[in-house]
Amino acid sequence: MTDVMTSQQRRRCMANIRGRDTKPEVRLRKALWRRGLRYRLHAKVMGRPDFLFVKQKVAVFVDGCFWHRCKRHFSLPKTNAVFWEGKIGKNVHRDKMVTRGLRRLGWRVIRVWEHEVESNLKGLTARISRQLRKR
Ligand SMILES: [Zn+2]
Repeated sequence: MTDVMTSQQRRRCMANIRGRDTKPEVRLRKALWRRGLRYRLHAKVMGRPDFLFVKQKVAVFVDGCFWHRCKRHFSLPKTNAVFWEGKIGKNVHRDKMVTRGLRRLGWRVIRVWEHEVESNLKGLTARISRQLRKR
């Protein structure tokens, strides 16, 4: 098969994809850090939360609008619709199981949408720090 992209183009393309995946998480992480909140990243806890506040027992997930089927922004791709339906459906199901499982273990679980990080970072960090002060 012929490769239509030069290796440089492909590299740039891959970098963009990776950047888009992690950007909201990094933005939120920096905002929390600026507020003086200290957390652990990707700790070995059920579901691998994006941030973990161990002492307060709060787990935070940043959910991508596409991968976790945000009601406002998700739309099923037209190609391979059946495949995507199944894949995203599995993600959403797993999210529910993880949230339930962590709560059962005494964690408070905060799930935020990627689009909230983009549009309301201030409100989001305020909400998280409020949750942390509760205990
Ligand atoms: Zn969204």
